[in-house]
Amino acid sequence: MSDSGNDVQLDAIAEAVKVILEGIGEDVDREGLRDTPRRVARMYTEVFGGLHVDPAGVINTVFDDENHEEMVIVKDIPFYSMCEHHLIPFHGKAHVAYLPEGRLTGLSKLARLVEAFARRPQLQERLTTQIADTLMDGLRPHGALVVVEAEHLCMSMRGVKKPGSVTVTSAVRGTFCDNNATRAEAFSLIYGGR
Ligand SMILES: [Zn+2]
Repeated sequence: MSDSGNDVQLDAIAEAVKVILEGIGEDVDREGLRDTPRRVARMYTEVFGGLHVDPAGVINTVFDDENHEEMVIVKDIPFYSMCEHHLIPFHGKAHVAYLPEGRLTGLSKLARLVEAFARRPQLQERLTTQIADTLMDGLRPHGALVVVEAEHLCMSMRGVKKPGSVTVTSAVRGTFCDNNATRAEAFSLIYGGR
């Protein structure tokens, strides 16, 4: 992204934040708020930075290992995302599993894949399926399983006001869908020992 492109976006976001502050009846000229629009704009470029990342590219470093067909699980991947209905955070943990068919990606790439999809206006259900589908397309494994657990601030601090409630979503593909034992093994590795 070019600097000038960045500046245009920052200006647009800052201007919009100022309008919101005015709209809620704030004095945008008081000292505490003077730098807030630009501060929020800079923060948004980070929080929504996943929009400028190609998730498929994140896992395109593939290691061919014909002999490795054992389950790979990275669990408790922390993430922060923004509910696209309210533009306030939902956050929690993602657990990502796949059963390779000779093609592996780096373990850290799985965490980066979660981040690429989390850092954008998002829904937990779609976050979950996008991670699973990108793994299926990119690595063509026997199967993929993704579980996401999150607290939604739009449920905790407003609306039904249920702090601490956790929403769990899962996406199962391939062998994890077809084979009960394989799916049970993944879930016991994710949740076992808790
Ligand atoms: Zn929401």
